[in-house]
Amino acid sequence: MPDTENKLCYDLHSHSTSSDGELSPTDLVKYAHDKGVTELALTDHDNTAGIAEARLQADQLGMNLINGVEVSSIWNNRLVHIVGLNFDTENQALQKGLADLRKQREERGEKIGRRLEKLGICGALAGARQFSNGQILSRTHFARYLVASGVVKNPNEAFKKYLGDGKPACVTSEWASMEQTVEWIKGAGGHAVIAHPARYKLSATRLRLFIEDFVACGGQGFEVVSGSQDAAENRKMADYALRYELYASKGSDYHGPNQPWLSMGRMPDLPAACTPIWSLWEH
Ligand code: AMP
Ligand code: MN
Ligand code: MN
Ligand code: MN
Repeated sequence: MPDTENKLCYDLHSHSTSSDGELSPTDLVKYAHDKGVTELALTDHDNTAGIAEARLQADQLGMNLINGVEVSSIWNNRLVHIVGLNFDTENQALQKGLADLRKQREERGEKIGRRLEKLGICGALAGARQFSNGQILSRTHFARYLVASGVVKNPNEAFKKYLGDGKPACVTSEWASMEQTVEWIKGAGGHAVIAHPARYKLSATRLRLFIEDFVACGGQGFEVVSGSQDAAENRKMADYALRYELYASKGSDYHGPNQPWLSMGRMPDLPAACTPIWSLWEH
């Protein structure tokens, strides 16, 4: 069933100031509404703190807000992102797990600050903390500090030179295993989704292994349409979803107006052959 059939417009991956997005939960919901989104999931990294505020605004606008989170996870010694959708935010095991990840983020942030210091860049930890405004500490906040202090021209350069995988200020961290993440999400009554699968740049063989492991852990969803994938990648990802009988999800991964190339409400429909993940909860 194409997702526009009943005039609903889904976006099941987005960020607010509760993680590394630029808009407050209220403003993000208003923006999504302006762009025609009717079903929105706020999926901040490793926390659900913005959902209550987002829900107040969504209720006012008559939008449907789906509980979401994007969990920093490890598969095969590398960082992958697993989105959780439509779970109980009060679930204790999930919240305890997310709290531990936030602690890891603090420790990683301190290490990133020290690495940058060694590279002659002072005050990065304090600077990143200012950008994170008491919320989770993300590499995005370090990138914003590096831009603001004139070290790099844009966040992309900050990742390319310092913060990206394998770069001098990239610090590995003890994230949750993918298996653990899926268990938390399912234990809270939700559905686990592999986020932006094309972004990991895995070979076809490794992507298959990744999906097979994910399915073996009980994962059910695959982000077939992602704001960080092009049309050809989306088509390829649809083939994987069909082959592994995964429910298809769709999300912009919107982080705010500083990504002017990315907007909400303008993503293509899921290919008709895919089974949308929302068919699991829309009855
Ligand atoms: P973290 O969750 O702290 O590991 O930071 C990862 C976040 O950094 C991602 O969720 C993206 O929002 C952002 N990010 C990753 N790569 C880039 C890039 N090349 N340019 C800008 N932002 C990026
Ligand atoms: Mn992010
Ligand atoms: Mn992600
Ligand atoms: Mn994201």
